Amino acid sequence: MIKAPPVITTDTTTRSGTVVEFSGVVKHFGGVRALSGFDLTLHAGEFVALLGPSGSGKTTALRVLAGLETISEGTIRIDGEDVSMLPTSKRDMGMVFQSYSLFPHMSVGANVEFGLRMRGIKPTERRDRAEAALELVGLHEHSARFAHQLSGGQQQRVALARALVTEPRVLLLDEPLSALDAKVRVQLREEIRRIQTTLGITTLFVTHDQDEALAVADRVAVMQAGTIEQVGTPEELYTRPASSFIADFVGLSNRLSGAVNHGFAELHGVRLPLVDPAHPDGPVRISVRPEDIEFASEGIPGTIVLSSFLGSLRRTSVQLADGSTVFLQHAARVRPTPGDRVFLRLTGAPVSVETVEPAAVLD
Ligand code: ATP
Repeated sequence: MIKAPPVITTDTTTRSGTVVEFSGVVKHFGGVRALSGFDLTLHAGEFVALLGPSGSGKTTALRVLAGLETISEGTIRIDGEDVSMLPTSKRDMGMVFQSYSLFPHMSVGANVEFGLRMRGIKPTERRDRAEAALELVGLHEHSARFAHQLSGGQQQRVALARALVTEPRVLLLDEPLSALDAKVRVQLREEIRRIQTTLGITTLFVTHDQDEALAVADRVAVMQAGTIEQVGTPEELYTRPASSFIADFVGLSNRLSGAVNHGFAELHGVRLPLVDPAHPDGPVRISVRPEDIEFASEGIPGTIVLSSFLGSLRRTSVQLADGSTVFLQHAARVRPTPGDRVFLRLTGAPVSVETVEPAAVLD
């Protein structure tokens, strides 16, 4: 029996929110280990983004939660209940994929009503609920149009309405913005976040786009090779990356050769305090954010290689005496010319310091 409020409940105070727990989940595809000891908890009403390079296992994690793939080991719990063996139809998930996956020759309204029809909901209630869902995504005036008459962004809104109309416990979004152009992507991601917050629905969002993940998620889980490398708020990942992989993957960073000596990072004749003063002495790879480097009247000497205009700012790369290149971002009114000799100053602590074997060749 389907719970049957006639419209989508937007009063989050009446919802308890759903908790999702992955514990030690392993998924093999033949010889490929797509998930390997995958642990993640989504708290009630939380929006979690799974971010990672291609092939890191993001989509597989979403699909095993949806029940579209069975897991090889571990458990998946929804509100404490082990759903690992339940079919998709019993898990109560709303899903939106990269491809719009609407029925093109059905009206928008009929597309949204489809899931309710499958559940045997009566026509009047179906229409009311579909209308409410379309209103939520700002498309209630397009109910009679055919899906194929809509733009890509509008089709994804319809797909979102269709996913939400059944009032699922969890919303799963698998690269829902990838096929859209840059401006629509930004508008729609903000819209998705607004709706998710309004409904208080626990959401898992798969993306390979770090801007997207950082902009919308409460927490971001960065994956590599089937496991989570680090999970935290966007700010935590950006300011305290657990490794140079995360520092590189989340935001931009320069990787420089240097050494740790008694709680300080030393590079290019500069000493910087460490976030972790207990880091062992020795050669390290140091990640420095571009905003932590600035032009100065004295400091680390270098030569301008290239300066690119990015609208509100410029990104400029500078070759240092050892042949390595760093880039910094600065006000667009400052216009360095390739070949200019400059000095750089490091203004902040390195975001990440990673020990390297003395024999390793650094960039
Ligand atoms: P992308 O960003 O490219 O979509 P992803 O992080 O979502 O990548 P997955 O699609 O989860 O990664 O794939 C993880 C690994 O599992 C990859 O090595 C992939 O080739 C493999 N894989 C995924 N699905 C299958 C399948 N049905 N059969 C065999 N191997 C698969």
